Amino acid sequence: MFDLIIRGDQVVTSEGTGRWDICIRGETIAAIATPGTFGDEQAGRVIDATGKIVIPGGIDPHIHSLWHIPALEEGGEASMTDGPDTVSRAAIHGGTTTLLDFATWQPGQTIEEAINIRKQDWTGKCYADYGYHVMLQGAIPPEVLPQVGEAIQDGYPSIKIFTTDITPSRRGRKITHGHIWEIFKILKREGGIGAIHAEDDEIVMHMYDVLTREGRTGFENMSEVHNSMSEDLSFRRIIRLAEHVDGTPLYMMHVSAATGVAAIESARARGFPIYGETLHQYLMFTHDHYKRPNGQIYHTYPSLKESSDQDALWQGQMNGAISTIATDEICCNLSTKTQGHHIDDVTGGNAGCEPRVSVMYTEMVTKRGYSLRKFTDMVSTNAAKIMGMYPKKGVLAAGSDADITVLDPAERRTITAARLHESDYTPWEGYEAEVWPTLTVLRGKVMMEAGDFHGDVKDGKMLKRKVAEDIRNRPAL
Ligand SMILES: [Zn+2]
Repeated sequence: MFDLIIRGDQVVTSEGTGRWDICIRGETIAAIATPGTFGDEQAGRVIDATGKIVIPGGIDPHIHSLWHIPALEEGGEASMTDGPDTVSRAAIHGGTTTLLDFATWQPGQTIEEAINIRKQDWTGKCYADYGYHVMLQGAIPPEVLPQVGEAIQDGYPSIKIFTTDITPSRRGRKITHGHIWEIFKILKREGGIGAIHAEDDEIVMHMYDVLTREGRTGFENMSEVHNSMSEDLSFRRIIRLAEHVDGTPLYMMHVSAATGVAAIESARARGFPIYGETLHQYLMFTHDHYKRPNGQIYHTYPSLKESSDQDALWQGQMNGAISTIATDEICCNLSTKTQGHHIDDVTGGNAGCEPRVSVMYTEMVTKRGYSLRKFTDMVSTNAAKIMGMYPKKGVLAAGSDADITVLDPAERRTITAARLHESDYTPWEGYEAEVWPTLTVLRGKVMMEAGDFHGDVKDGKMLKRKVAEDIRNRPAL
């Protein structure tokens, strides 16, 4: 007897895509059965998903909730972006069931303290399952280094590292290569993976000086500051550093430029374990979008680039350089998103975790002819594998968590902020999505069905993670 059977004819499983029945008992998938194996009377409920696309729940490996946005003026009021409740509710509506956020270590804390503080923000406040990358910043005292190893062993294997302060007004994030070298030694030894925001800090800060001197400080010039050459220099330097530490595995966050893709590609050709993440806004918008009304809504750091960079980001998905599509979600209202107008004060991040899966289906499957398997890899499976959640997450297979998303081509729609559950704006306003989720199941529970939300804020569970050896030892995807 099963609790739920979902019958479909385009079900993306580890055994291939086709006509399968997903049989769920409790929180897990008990069987992926050929149709007819089990009758309707053998389940508490049967859902017919014929004509729809059935995939494992989406995974967004890069979001920020309750993220601090500094005030524009000295002494002004800083704001906090929306919390995990808002972000995860939007994610569930959009077919995403797992979110990875960050636990930020502050100088003076232990890493355990940083994680515990983050737990207070999340426990009992999230509709989706979730985990944290540990975000380090600044100078890492020697006594904190062993704690990195303990965090990895305790289920937090991905360590976020910035090679830049990003803007002159937000100093303190950048970690020097000496400190990164020490962190890499621990990542290599203890089973971790570096989650890197790589930009060349000297080039970036130089360009802030140049544009300030020239009086061209409008944010529409952002791609000159956070530029392609900076991505080239920083990617290649951090990769070389990791190679010197016996091939410390790297996950390059928000790859934005062709130079970044090329750096990952050549490292992978040498057998180096490195994976690229890009953002769906980088795939779809260029720096010309900055000139549109409220052009800040398209921005996240580093920056939007050229259409040739977009081509490379798409091509990179074919040759393996780009493995995941994330959002860099920062959920806030339009007035906060557009409060800054300059290269050093524009709000980063994006409101995108709800439309991500449907928009990517449209771009990948409808427009570019990706197989359903490849699309599923990009929005779910690869993130589970790289971030140490597979096969619990990211796959429809017996024994996996029953996280399931059903996309309905009959529900194609024009995206508008009013119909989403994130914010009062969306960068995808007016976009024609070819599918929309009509069912989201989290560990066996129907969380959203036909737009009706049935989630409880206590439904989301914290995930401890462990990155598989093959992911860490070679470019395994
Ligand atoms: Zn981010």
